[in-house]
Amino acid sequence: MTAFRTLDDIGDVSGKRVLVREDLNVPMDGDRVTDDTRLRAAAPTVAELADKGAKVLVLAHFGRPKGERNPEMSLAKVVKAFSEVLGREVRFIDDCQGADAANAVAAMAPGSIALLENTRFHKGEEKNDPALVEAMAALGDIYVNDAFSAAHRAHASTEGLAHKLPAYAGRSMQAELEALEKALGNPQHPVAAVVGGAKVSTKLDVLKHLVTKVDHLIIGGGMANTFLAARGIDVGKSLCEHDLTGTANEIMDAADKANCTVHLPYDVVVAKEFKANPPTRTVNVHEVEADEMILDVGPAAVEALADALKTCRTLVWNGPLGAFETPPFDTATVSLARTAAALTQDGSLVSVAGGGDTVAALNQAGAGDSFTFVSTAGGAFLEWMEGKELPGVAALVK
Ligand code: AMP
Repeated sequence: MTAFRTLDDIGDVSGKRVLVREDLNVPMDGDRVTDDTRLRAAAPTVAELADKGAKVLVLAHFGRPKGERNPEMSLAKVVKAFSEVLGREVRFIDDCQGADAANAVAAMAPGSIALLENTRFHKGEEKNDPALVEAMAALGDIYVNDAFSAAHRAHASTEGLAHKLPAYAGRSMQAELEALEKALGNPQHPVAAVVGGAKVSTKLDVLKHLVTKVDHLIIGGGMANTFLAARGIDVGKSLCEHDLTGTANEIMDAADKANCTVHLPYDVVVAKEFKANPPTRTVNVHEVEADEMILDVGPAAVEALADALKTCRTLVWNGPLGAFETPPFDTATVSLARTAAALTQDGSLVSVAGGGDTVAALNQAGAGDSFTFVSTAGGAFLEWMEGKELPGVAALVK
């Protein structure tokens, strides 16, 4: 990977105004933050810069206010929780640009921290409007981007600013980029990818890119049904995108040419109703009845997948193998996640996972903490798996 600048390259920041883009878009219940993962991810960079004597000015978006001021989506609601996670005082400045904000910044002591109001209160944010970039840049001397999960968007605070001020990756961004580099950029082979989830249509570009990069492509979840149908298997009432069977065949052909082994389930768990703990059957894929749905990968296939993982050095994982929210259709996901976690702990596998549902599924298996790296990013992680250049990352390249 091309090298990018980090806080190790930033030099003396004491007394300097550092604009730090974080992802503080946390879920809330009323005024209470229900999951502070993103606040904890943001804390190391903010604390490090404050310890080095910078005036730390945190920029972030919150919800989708569409360019209007909206008190419901004010970052003022996050200040207290962020301050608690940091164990430091955080003041609030109620705009991310303009004369009042500049005066408030001028009054800050070196080493102190301020959270600036939602960047998306300005229409120019999502348009990457040079006027807003200019106005935000006027508040700072240096720009640090620590929000990998927002880096797939070329917005004023995620991309524009990097061209206006000396720009660096924060610690959280750095950790993401280093992990992703190890997983797909420059990985140790053999590499396996697990791609699951509901639909092929949302992950076509991911699959097309992965067949050129990995040695084993493990397809699970609802999307496996489309591949099975493409092979002429009757998948009954299963979720299946019949119009994409041609595309599925193209992907399997491309995999053949690239020496990538595609793993599809050969036994599956089926039910007539999609609800918790219905009557189920575990059958060969050729034995699915017309009124049955495939809802999980079967135990024989999971065992074969575990054996395949044991021969691999690197794993990248996005999407569950089955309808994991509904018991017992989390069984395959939980089992394979635990195998991957154990191989990682033994030191034989580098394992990187990402995407919203994936993190939930791995945590359900109690395996998330044992992976080498679990990305908190959703869309950005997928775009990275598609091999796309993320504008927020490209702007940090040395
Ligand atoms: P995604 O957001 O694309 O990663 O899809 C995740 C969703 O796929 C989860 O809500 C799962 O319940 C669902 N899913 C996984 N396997 C199946 C399946 N065999 N049939 C229906 N839904 C599934």
